[in-house]
Amino acid sequence: MENCTANSIKPPAATLRLRLDRAALAQNWRALDRLSGKARAGAAVKANAYGLGTDFAVPVLKEAGARDFFVAHWSEVAGVLAHAAANEICVLHGAGTEEEAAYARATGVVPVINSLSQAALWLNTGGGKCHLMVDTAMNRLGISLHELGDPAIAALQVDCLMSHLASADEDSPLNDSQKTRFREVVNTIRHSEASLANSAGIALGSDYAFDMTRPGLALYGGIPRAQLDGIISQVAFPEAAIIQRRRILPGETVGYNATFQAEREMEIATISIGYADGFLRSRGPGFALQHDGTPLPVIGRVSMDMIIADCTAKPHLKEADFLSVPFHLPAISEASGFSQYELLTTIGHRFARNG
Ligand SMILES: *Cc1c(COP(=O)(O)O)cnc(C)c1O
Repeated sequence: MENCTANSIKPPAATLRLRLDRAALAQNWRALDRLSGKARAGAAVKANAYGLGTDFAVPVLKEAGARDFFVAHWSEVAGVLAHAAANEICVLHGAGTEEEAAYARATGVVPVINSLSQAALWLNTGGGKCHLMVDTAMNRLGISLHELGDPAIAALQVDCLMSHLASADEDSPLNDSQKTRFREVVNTIRHSEASLANSAGIALGSDYAFDMTRPGLALYGGIPRAQLDGIISQVAFPEAAIIQRRRILPGETVGYNATFQAEREMEIATISIGYADGFLRSRGPGFALQHDGTPLPVIGRVSMDMIIADCTAKPHLKEADFLSVPFHLPAISEASGFSQYELLTTIGHRFARNG
C-alpha cells in the first residue's frame, strides 16, 4: 500500500553479486598506459563501463591517471560527468541533431565529428573544439578519406584526430594499411593530437599509439591479443547464491523441457542467476560454477532467474551459500562462443556491486 515507505526500508542482501577489483582495474589502466609508450592511455567507458558500472570505473580510472573518457551516446554523459570534467569526456557518436549540438555546448562535452553533415551542424551552431573520426577501413562511423578535402573539414577546430582499427585482435594486413592511411591523414589534417589504437591496437606496438590510445576491453579484464596475457588481470567476479537444495533420484529430470535426466542419485542446487542476468543459455550445460575451486556442473536449461547445478561433489552446501561464476573472459568467450565484449556488456542489473 505505502509505496513511499517501501523505498525507505533497507532491502535484504542480494542473492547475486558482482565483486569488482578496483586495484585490478587501476593496474590494467597503468599497464595499458605504459604499453602505449610516449602516448597516454584514455579509457572507453561506454555502455556503463562495459557493464561494470560507470560509478565504479570512472573514479578508479581517474585516480589511476586517465583524463580522456569515451562514451558512445549522449545519454551516457551525465553518468560520467558525475566523476569527470566535461572537457575530459568525448561522445563517439557525435552531434547529429541540433539538440545534441546544443547539449554538447551546454555541458562542454566534446563531440566526435563523424560525417560532413555533423561537421556542418557543428560549424553552423558555433564551431569550436571537437574531435574528428576518419574512416580508414571500417565503413562504420567517420569521415571517408575522399571527403577530407571538403572545406568544412578545414574549418573545424580539431583537437583529437582519430581512426579505429577493424582487425586489431587479428594478425591482419589491414592493421598496417590502416596505420599507413592514418599517418597520411595525420600529415594532412590540422589537429592537436592523434589517436588510433583500442586495447588490441596497443598490443600491436608503440607505432600504433600516436598521442593517445583508447583502451576499453582490456581495462575490464578482456584479453584480445596474446601479448596482453599475464599483463591484464580479471576485474569482475560474479557470485550467485543457492536458493534451494534437493536430492534427486535416478530417472528424475531437471529444468524446462526436461533436458537433463539423472542417471544416479544426485545432490543439486538451484542458483539465483539466469539469462536475465547475462548468463545466457549457451553458458548452461558444459559449464560449471565453483565453490572453493571445486567445479559444480550446470545441468538442464538456463531459466530467466535460475540455473541448476550438480553439487554432489559438495553435499554440505546449503541455501544462502554463494558460488562463484567463472568469468575469466578469454576462457569463457572461447567456451561459450560469445565475444569477451558481449560477456561484459550483457551483465544484468540485478547484481549488487561492491564498486
Ligand atoms: C569502443 C571503442 C574503443 C575501445 O575498444 P576496445 O576494443 O574495447 O579496447 C576505442 N575506440 C572506439 C572508437 C570505440 O568505439
